[in-house]
Amino acid sequence: MSQLYCGACQNYLMGSDGECHDCSCGWKQPIESRNESGEIEALRQRVAELEAKLTQETSGYIEALNQCTINADRTVRLQSELFYVTRDFNELKRSL
Ligand SMILES: [Zn+2]
Repeated sequence: MSQLYCGACQNYLMGSDGECHDCSCGWKQPIESRNESGEIEALRQRVAELEAKLTQETSGYIEALNQCTINADRTVRLQSELFYVTRDFNELKRSL
């Protein structure tokens, strides 16, 4: 973890960017924490990339699924219409 206060002069080190910086007196944040925050930042970016990709791909599937539902509804309506039209046609044919 980065340190909020300088280990030498107790200066407050959190910048307006929300990061804990090295102190102006020459004291530096521990190297491990800088590596750690770099790794955390890399992982955060990776998570953001994956979330964006997942959202993009999922929206494609949802769109395709909605289209299938619409097509299935149309097919059911057409089959129903075909059934009644065929029945009426057969009744008409018999009456001739
Ligand atoms: Zn300092």
